[in-house]
Amino acid sequence: MSLSADTSPERSADGRRGALALGTPLLIGAVVLVACLFGIYTRPADFLATLWPANAILLAMLIRVPGAARLSGWICAAIAYMAADLMTGSSLKMTAVLTAANLFGVGVGYAVHLWHPDRIRALKEPVSVLWLAFIAAAAAASAGLFGMLANPLLFQRSIATGWSFWFATEFVNYVTILPVLLSAPPLATLAGRWKTSRLSIRGADILPVLAVIAAGGAASLIGGAGSVAFPVPALLWCAIVYPIFPTAALTLISGVWTLAAVSTGLVGSQFVPDNEVDLVSIRLGISLVALAPIMLACVMQGRNELLARLHHMAMHDPLTGARNRDSFRATAQGILDKRADVPFALMMVDLDHFKAVNDRFGHAAGDRALACFGEHARGCLRTGDLLGRMGGEEFAILVPNCSPQHALGLAERIRNLVSTPIPLENGGFLVVTASIGLLSIPQGDGRGIDELLPVADKLLYAAKRNGRDRVETGETLPA
Ligand code: GH3
Ligand code: MG
Ligand code: MG
Repeated sequence: MSLSADTSPERSADGRRGALALGTPLLIGAVVLVACLFGIYTRPADFLATLWPANAILLAMLIRVPGAARLSGWICAAIAYMAADLMTGSSLKMTAVLTAANLFGVGVGYAVHLWHPDRIRALKEPVSVLWLAFIAAAAAASAGLFGMLANPLLFQRSIATGWSFWFATEFVNYVTILPVLLSAPPLATLAGRWKTSRLSIRGADILPVLAVIAAGGAASLIGGAGSVAFPVPALLWCAIVYPIFPTAALTLISGVWTLAAVSTGLVGSQFVPDNEVDLVSIRLGISLVALAPIMLACVMQGRNELLARLHHMAMHDPLTGARNRDSFRATAQGILDKRADVPFALMMVDLDHFKAVNDRFGHAAGDRALACFGEHARGCLRTGDLLGRMGGEEFAILVPNCSPQHALGLAERIRNLVSTPIPLENGGFLVVTASIGLLSIPQGDGRGIDELLPVADKLLYAAKRNGRDRVETGETLPA
């Protein structure tokens, strides 16, 4: 009998798939159970929960977690809904009606989401927020059908208000919770950003949060039905400053605060919502207020991504990925000014006999060679080094904190890589070579980039004169 474990990749992949298939429904069940218990313990006596996160959380998991929307997931969710109610003393009849309402609402929401799953999952476009509102409305309206029946049956209230009350309660929960869960970055991404301290927070960044807190305070102090709208300017400020996820999280917190304040009578010294119509109105008000900042955050994210793309395009050459001439000069000058305490290397690189390359192999092959040069050169450089395309087949490279010996090694490495044969579409190969003028700049040199480039250029022409496919260093300039 062998004791050795079978570690074949197929077996371990099958094992992982098996664990995932079992783990996801159990996770759904556990999360739904906790969310239900939270809702039950925060609900007013003998009536529907003000805050019922379970349905929105279940819907978000079904949308986001791969493989969650299977029969096993639905069964675990159903067991969790029933367990939560039975554990907290609900009758079997009430448990059955409430579980059916919850599952039916989530089911309809999930079915509507299948219309445009990518738009809703990514939550990147403004129209996604409208779809989200539509899903929330469909899910809430479906649950409301059960509310119509359940209201007289379970709560001794009228059929007439059953649907609207149930609808408003479900709608506010979906509209405030779904955007947070759909826009939340994966935990691994957040942990990574934390480690690389890209989550650094500046003092001014905190101001929109303070404004949301102040609006919540004002709502409590002044009260009245209008206080539902008090956080709008602060939340719009958040949407302009923060990405979607923090904006959605703050919108949720602000909404929960108002909901809690309303149900405990905190909001409204002059306004106490003692009937269902008032409560429906307030819940709908909070839901519709929540849509605005999330929509604005989506618009801002789209705009910021577009601006970043345009900025990159304005600064870079699309063929080689190098900076264009103006961007290279400006950035290089900035680096020289900032790091006067280190030695630099400046290279001018020119591809040899490139006109002949174009004439013999065609312009497309020449473009290919230029793109390959860009790849090779960037592959040799560190972050903080600078590559610029100064004209046709002429490039400049600025390397901060670089000794003359290191610079020579780097230049030779680039020159060698450039002559790697480039496969052509016709099956042949193209070999290009480069001449490099290498200027080593001692620390504290003090000259600007516009004075240094012509010196490196002279060295480049010396390399051309001395036979091409070579690095010409000249002497290190005195400080
Ligand atoms: P030398 O070794 O002295 O540098 O000779 P050369 O032929 O490389 O230099 P010359 O300045 O005479 O020619 C440069 C050529 O580079 C001419 C031009 O057609 C070509 N070129 C410039 N930009 C591009 C481009 O974007 N794509 C292609 N395919 N060719 C380009
Ligand atoms: Mg040339
Ligand atoms: Mg040239």
